[in-house]
Amino acid sequence: MKAKCLWCFKESPEVTFDKKAHTIPKSLGGQNFNNNVCDNCNEYFGNRNERNRKYSIEEALKEAFNISRRRLLNSGKTKRKIGDFKSKFFDIKQRNGKYRLSIKPSFRFSSGFQKELCRAFKRGLYKMFLEELNRQKNIGYEPKFDVIRQFARYDKGDLPVLYFNRVIGIMMMFDREAETPILFFDRMKYLYSNDKFTEIEFLGHVFGFPISKFNIEDYKNYVSKSIENKKGFFTDAVFIQKMTDVDITLKIMND
Ligand SMILES: [Zn+2]
Repeated sequence: MKAKCLWCFKESPEVTFDKKAHTIPKSLGGQNFNNNVCDNCNEYFGNRNERNRKYSIEEALKEAFNISRRRLLNSGKTKRKIGDFKSKFFDIKQRNGKYRLSIKPSFRFSSGFQKELCRAFKRGLYKMFLEELNRQKNIGYEPKFDVIRQFARYDKGDLPVLYFNRVIGIMMMFDREAETPILFFDRMKYLYSNDKFTEIEFLGHVFGFPISKFNIEDYKNYVSKSIENKKGFFTDAVFIQKMTDVDITLKIMND
């Protein structure tokens, strides 16, 4: 069967499909590939190719999630060593079995920097989402998902992403998940999805976002149903606009 790229819709031989396209970055422990991502699009997400950015979309994902992953791996009964990740923005040092995080000067708190990094991170979430959706459920080419393609692949428009803050202490994870992270769509009953919005759980974090065009009524309806679903598990939700809106160090684990 002829491969057709999930992002640009081009087919071989116009584009090639030689490289393995990790749906979740390899450096985060991702082991799955999507065969429907052409080499151009795969490179696009991994390269710093737009407007002299200092990091790629994949790097924005790695920066945020590596810290969570280290925290989770370190909290299990058996401590595991994982490959050293050279972070641009954070110093992570291990001492007496505890991780200490310090912020490098390159992680600026100015709103311009935070907005830009956050936008790359959001686009990265959508990249993982669509590629995993396609891999797991064999869908994703439908025109309704074009808003995702426009935002993640072509840097057009903006989509609101909600981040749900957990109630302290409530987190169910298997050790294995931190080693080889999986993107979950519907495992937990607190995740709510309908035809226009979806929620994913990844490395202890829950995000909710639109997956197609929507209007204000759709949005209100989604938020109210989602919040209802999350009673007892989550305290509130925030629109992520800065990287610091996401609890990347998983403070809620409180250990
Ligand atoms: Zn492509």
